[in-house]
Amino acid sequence: MNNITIDDIRDWATTQSDYTRGRVYYADRRVKTYNDRESNGLCSVDAVVRGTHSYQVHVTMHEGQILRASCTCQAFDGTSCKHIICVLFTYREKHCGGQTAAPRTDERLDRLIRAYRELPDDEPQEAAAEPEAPAEAETLHLVPRLNMGYSGGMS
Ligand SMILES: [Zn+2]
Repeated sequence: MNNITIDDIRDWATTQSDYTRGRVYYADRRVKTYNDRESNGLCSVDAVVRGTHSYQVHVTMHEGQILRASCTCQAFDGTSCKHIICVLFTYREKHCGGQTAAPRTDERLDRLIRAYRELPDDEPQEAAAEPEAPAEAETLHLVPRLNMGYSGGMS
């Protein structure tokens, strides 16, 4: 059994941001599919994590040590990203008696989750469509001249 700890996960994260966001993704139940298989102390995890898009994550562990991980997102730096951290937390929940994501009792994490939900993801977004050109030039000449034919005055 590969018994990884919170510290192992934190150490694997390249940045504090990866760690925090990965933990938020985990608490937010972003793991769509999850499979792992283990033989001779070697554990291989395949998962799909929902972000802006869905990303495929692979993690290999041996004797409680993370050997390598990969993710199809653009933020993956060759070692970690938030999706990988999210999957590591999921592995820990399933195999290491780690705290489950629900029910949530961590208020600070709850606030983080709410804050992150407000933010766009940091993956590149589709280019926004060009705004329609305003049509005012077309209609300007149709506006009647209001005082045409009016000569009486009010007094
Ligand atoms: Zn990723």
